[in-house]
Amino acid sequence: MPELISSLRAIVGASHVLDPADPAVDLAPYTRDWRKRYQGRARAVVFPGTPIEVAEVVRLCHRLGVALVPQGGNTGLVGGGVPDESGQQVVIQVGRLNRVRRIDKANLTMEVEAGCVLAHAQQAATAAGLMLPLSLASEGSCTIGGNLASNAGGTQVLRYGNAREQCLGLEVVTPEGAIWNGLRGLRKDNTGYDLRDLYIGSEGTLGVITAAVMRLQPAPIGVVTALATCADLVDATDLLVQAQARCAMTLTGFEVMNRTSIDLVRRHFPQLAQGVPAANWTVLIELSGPTSEGMTRLQLEELMADCMDRGLIDDGLIAVSMQQSRTFWHLREAIALAQSQEGLNVKHDISLPVSAIGEFVAGADAAIARHVPGARMVCFGHLGDGNLHYNVQAPEGQDPAAFLKNHEAGLNALVYDAVVHRGGSISAEHGIGRLKRDELRLRHDPVALALMQRIKSALDPSNLMNPGKVL
Ligand SMILES: Cc1cc2nc3c(=O)[nH]c(=O)nc-3n(C[C@H](O)[C@H](O)[C@H](O)COP(=O)(O)OP(=O)(O)OC[C@H]3O[C@@H](n4cnc5c(N)ncnc54)[C@H](O)[C@@H]3O)c2cc1C
Repeated sequence: MPELISSLRAIVGASHVLDPADPAVDLAPYTRDWRKRYQGRARAVVFPGTPIEVAEVVRLCHRLGVALVPQGGNTGLVGGGVPDESGQQVVIQVGRLNRVRRIDKANLTMEVEAGCVLAHAQQAATAAGLMLPLSLASEGSCTIGGNLASNAGGTQVLRYGNAREQCLGLEVVTPEGAIWNGLRGLRKDNTGYDLRDLYIGSEGTLGVITAAVMRLQPAPIGVVTALATCADLVDATDLLVQAQARCAMTLTGFEVMNRTSIDLVRRHFPQLAQGVPAANWTVLIELSGPTSEGMTRLQLEELMADCMDRGLIDDGLIAVSMQQSRTFWHLREAIALAQSQEGLNVKHDISLPVSAIGEFVAGADAAIARHVPGARMVCFGHLGDGNLHYNVQAPEGQDPAAFLKNHEAGLNALVYDAVVHRGGSISAEHGIGRLKRDELRLRHDPVALALMQRIKSALDPSNLMNPGKVL
C-alpha cells in the first residue's frame, strides 16, 4: 500500500513511520502485547508529534478506509493496544506527544499530553510541590492517554479514585479526524452529555486522546507504610474496616497478597522478600498524613497495636525509612512480574463488594482445587477497592502454555460465574480489550451492551477505531 505509507510520511516525517516491508525494522514492540498473548501484524506504525498530525493521520486513514489502533506504553493487559493478525491496521503510537504543557498551582491541575509516561507526569507534579496520585506498577512505561483510555486504577484509588476521578478535561481526535478541545480544568461543568466520561475507559474505540487536564493534590507530609500478616482474608477485611474507621482521611493504600504471591516473589526476586514473615495473607497498609511523619506513624502504630489486640494481625512491620517503605511496595509490585517469569497463567481482574470477598475467595479456591488439582492461586490486589487479581498458575512442574490452553476456558467460567453471582465485575481496572470481549458479550447486561453498540455506531460508523476491541 505505497500511497498509505508515503502519505503518512508526508504528514509526520519519513523517520516517524515504520513500514513492515523494511527488513531493518522490528515492529514487535508495537504489535505484541505485554503479556505476549497476542502477536499482531501492522500495515504501518506511525508516530505523530502533535495533535494536528494525529488528526491528519486519522483523516487520511478514514478516507482510505484503514483501521487504526491507538497505542501508548503498550502495557495493557487485555490485548487492546495491539493490531490484529490481518496486517491491515495502522498503529498510531502517541509516545511523541509527551509534554507536560502546564501546571496551574492555584487550580491544582496539570495539562499533559497523552504520550507522557505516567512517572514523568508524577515527577513534574512533585517538582511543583504537588502530587499526581495515580500510581501503577507499570508507571515507568504506561502513558497518561493509555491510563485514561483504560480508566486505570492502581494503588491509591482508595483515597483519590481511579483515572476517571482524576481527570477534569480531555482533548480528543474523533474517528473522522476532528479535534475536540475539552481541556477545561473545571470541577463543575453541567453542560450536557459528559463526553469526557464517555472517552475515559473507551479503550481507543471512540477516538484518540491527545491531551488531558489532570487533578493534582497537595503533597502529603508524612507517609508511613507497614506490612501486617493475617490468618485469613476475613481478618484482613476486618483490619480494613478498622483502618477506615480510624484513619479514613489518611488511608492511601490497603493491598493484600496471599502466600503463593509472596512465594513467587521469593523465588524470582528473593531480595525483595527478605525479612518478610511467611503468612497466609500479608497486608500492605499506607497512611499519608497532612501534618508530620511522627503523627502519621503514631496513628499507624496505634491502629496496628489495637488490631493485634483484637487478634486480626499476627505480626507487623512498620517501615523505618522511605527506602524500606519503597521495598514493601516493590514486593507488592513485583508479583505481576514474578508471575510472568513463572510462565503463562490465567488472569482475572475482578471486583466485588468488599463484604463478599472473603467468601468468594474461599469458594473459588476450593472449586479450582477440585477442577485442577495442584493449581496455584495467586491472589493479590487492592482490597480497599474490592479489586482482586485472582490469577491461576499451572501446578508446579507443568507446562504453563499447555495449562493455559487446556484450562483457561473452564477456569474463566468458574471464576466469572462466581463473581457475577455475587454482584461483581469481570473487569475491575484492566478493561475489556480483546481478551474479555466475548466474556462481556456473555455476561453483561444486554440493554447496556445494546446502548454501547449504538454509541460506537454513532461515533465511529465506519468501525475504523480499534475494531474488534471491547465490543
Ligand atoms: C506490571 C504491570 C502492572 C500493572 N498494574 C496496573 C494497575 O495496578 N492498575 C491498572 O489499572 N492497570 C495496570 N496495568 C495495566 C496497564 O499498565 C494500564 O492499563 C495502563 O493504563 C495502560 O497504559 P498504556 O499507555 O500502556 O496503554 P496501552 O497498553 O498502549 O493501551 C491500552 C488501551 O488504551 C488505548 N489507548 C492507549 N493510548 C490511547 C490514546 N492516546 N487514545 C485512545 N486510546 C488509547 C489502546 O488502544 C488500548 O486499548 C499494569 C500493567 C503491567 C504490565
